Amino acid sequence: MTISRDGTITDVNAATTKITGVSRDRLIGSDFSDYFTEPEKAQQVYQRVFAEGVVHDYPLAMRSTSGVVTDVLYNASVFRNEAGLVEGVFAAARDVTARKQAEKELAWRAEELARSNADLQQFAYVASHDLQEPLRMVASYTQLLGKRYRGKLDADADDFIAFAVDGAHRMQVLINDLLAYSRAGTQGKEVASTNSESVLEAAQVNLMAAIEEAHAVISHDPLPTIPVDATQLSQVFQNLIGNALKFHGPEPPRIHVSAQQEAGEWRFSVRDNGIGIEPHDADRIFVIFQRLHAGQEYPGTGIGLAITKKIVERHGGRIWVVSEPGKGSTFTFTIPMAEVSHGGYRRVRASSAS
Ligand code: ADP
Repeated sequence: MTISRDGTITDVNAATTKITGVSRDRLIGSDFSDYFTEPEKAQQVYQRVFAEGVVHDYPLAMRSTSGVVTDVLYNASVFRNEAGLVEGVFAAARDVTARKQAEKELAWRAEELARSNADLQQFAYVASHDLQEPLRMVASYTQLLGKRYRGKLDADADDFIAFAVDGAHRMQVLINDLLAYSRAGTQGKEVASTNSESVLEAAQVNLMAAIEEAHAVISHDPLPTIPVDATQLSQVFQNLIGNALKFHGPEPPRIHVSAQQEAGEWRFSVRDNGIGIEPHDADRIFVIFQRLHAGQEYPGTGIGLAITKKIVERHGGRIWVVSEPGKGSTFTFTIPMAEVSHGGYRRVRASSAS
């Protein structure tokens, strides 16, 4: 619409007649602010156009004669006559209903996702926690059967009991891993400013036996101070370095940890000279209980990288691997430099299981 100095409408387009429900004839000559839910605010903006010459994307709402309210963004500028004097205001209001609706829907979906994630966390925690006790019972009594009746029944019975003992034991390991996995999401500590170099050094002390046994050489760049849960960062280093020690090739492991600053985040890399990973397995290894090797060759259950990924994501980061089979692998994870203010770990902590 165009509006004169005194605020009366001088012309409108078809969209204006539609949004107001008023004919062009009746709109022209009426006060422009009558068609907004907050006429005073509309007038203030109008004054601003005169003072400043232009107004961009000012949020207002228009009301039609039948009471339908439409959210708009209001853009306006003055226009001048041939002599260069300001004659009135040219105003365009853009209907943003669809955008607002989409924003609302997105917020709702994000909330829904956070809720179902929290439910799933809680489920995994409760299931693994509560299964431990009955399983302990099965494991200890099958063991007792084995001890007390070995050689007293027949050969089949000895085998059957041995299978049951073995099965119960494997299940205990899996349940414990599952519990550790769900704890990584629900029982993290506060994020605090942490010297990652000290954390790496502490992680190396914990791995001392494995490092010496493999005759490994571990080096690192100077590492930064970052906002993390120190215990969990230590777990990440231990899992990645532990794997680099375990999956080594014919040469003794050489492992290097580096950190680079990049676009608002720190990029940590753990590089090894081990057996490597085929590119088509690069995503699969981060999934819980997924392994590429049989238990006898390299011990493990396939939980380490899943926990590592969960911890990194809880801090708002990402993790991936680049590798050449036979040459080595580089695992890289990111940690945002500023604390994540929404999503991620805050939400998770709010729903943490006790
Ligand atoms: P686990 O070590 O118990 O098998 P992880 O989740 O830590 O479980 O690792 C999953 C799989 O990814 C491993 O079984 C292995 O096949 C592969 N992998 C992980 N780290 C490396 C590495 N540094 N070099 C080669 N393969 C690796």
